[in-house]
Order: sequence, then structure tokens, then C-alpha cells
Amino acid sequence: MRTPLLAGNWKMNATRAETRELAAAVATGTAGIDGREVMIAPPFTALETAAGVLDGSSVALGAQDMFWEESGAFTGEVSGDMLTDIGCSYVIVGHSERREHFGSTDYTVAKKAVAALASGLRPVVCVGESLEQRDQGSTLDVVSRQVAGSLYGITAQSFTEVVIAYEPVWAIGTGRTASPEQAQEVHEAIRRVLVEVTNNKETAAQIRIIYGGSVKPDNVDSLMACPDIDGALVGGASLKASDFLRIVQFEDA
Ligand code: PEP
Repeated sequence: MRTPLLAGNWKMNATRAETRELAAAVATGTAGIDGREVMIAPPFTALETAAGVLDGSSVALGAQDMFWEESGAFTGEVSGDMLTDIGCSYVIVGHSERREHFGSTDYTVAKKAVAALASGLRPVVCVGESLEQRDQGSTLDVVSRQVAGSLYGITAQSFTEVVIAYEPVWAIGTGRTASPEQAQEVHEAIRRVLVEVTNNKETAAQIRIIYGGSVKPDNVDSLMACPDIDGALVGGASLKASDFLRIVQFEDA
């Protein structure tokens, strides 16, 4: 009942020419695939280019961040309406790189998620523990707190538009993936938090929780076989069309 979402976070990579090539390969390579949703998130400067290439395809366009105000004196920021205007239907908020280097907190992530929904965007809300927190045994506490805090203010009717991305910080860009058991344990805990936050079991059951952290062609199938893993947020491997397409074509268990 939850359509898997395979999303590529291109981070600070790709000129417009590179975007044309990669987005075209994704659009062509995913034509005719059904039962799963595909999204790519190029940098802001390449969104319009990607939108042109993806036009007429089933690949959705996402941005990597946004600000919560609609317009005004916020130098360097981009609003949700600007993103829908350029053709985005998704926006990633609270990526651990934004949390670590650019001051994102659960509070600001929640404000962005609420604003994204108001602009008609689906927020992909990222959460995940550091290696230190995992080693201390506080993973479930940390992630549960992040989920509840980062969804603050979202209205009951909008919850099913939200996607949660569980991305253990120690697995991002390191080549070290969470095992399917480790990931499933956290996804299951997130689902329990969603029941509390939404106060509705059916709603919580509809929210997609995707996994991110060194997802590659050789580990995607075992991750996707887990009952609470509803897709993947893919960084490095989304920059190589053949790898990303293999991830999109994960084998259904
Ligand atoms: C990410 O940036 O969200 C990510 C999961 O990166 P990678 O796949 O490279 O670990």
C-alpha cells in the first residue's frame, strides 16, 4: 500500500550539462517501470534544466532544501513557492549535512516541512543518529526525538504527504551501510513514533519511511526486503546512472 520511493540526492554536484545527461538517463531508464516512484534532487542551479529534461517522464523533481518564509529579505534562500514554480514536487529538509554544517535543527526542519506542504511540496524529512549516539545505545531515543520534533505543526490531513528518511550519519558517504536488521529496527521505531504523533494508526501506516546511507546496487535488495523500509535516499550512487537505475529496479522480495 506504500509505493516505494527511490530518490537521488545529487548534493553539490552537476553542472547544467551534466544534469541534462544524468537526468535524461534516469528518465529513459525508468520509462515503463511502475509500482515505484523515482525522484531526483539536483542542486538549485540545475533544477530548471532538470525540469525540462524530465518533462513528460514519470520522474519527480526535488530540491535539497528550502526556507520557510514565502519571500522577502532572506539573502541566499529559496521559498517553497519558488520550488513548485520551477517544477519541484519534493523537497529534502533536515539532511544531516544541513544539520551539521548549516545549523538546521528539529525546530527549523519542522518549520520548513510545514511551509513545504503549504506550497504543495512533499517534504522528505531526514533524521539519523551519529556514530557516537549509536555506540552509546541511544539511537532509538535520538531518532524518535528527531521525528517528533521535525514534524511539529504538521496537520492531520497532510501527514501522508510526508516522507521520513532515516539516514544514520555514520553511513552517509562512508560506504558503511546499516544492516537490514539495524535499519528495520529503527524504521519500526519510527513507525511507532508516527502512530503517537499522528494519533492515528492508519495514517502512520501510510507514511513512507525510506532508508539512506551508502545504498548501492549490491545492498538495495536486502534493505528493500524489510517490511518498514519503503524506499531509499541515495547520495553517491545516484550520480552514476547505471547504479541508480539498478537501485530503482530493486528486486521485490
Ligand atoms: C545522502 O546524501 O542522503 C546519502 C545517503 O548519501 P550516500 O548514499 O552517498 O551515503
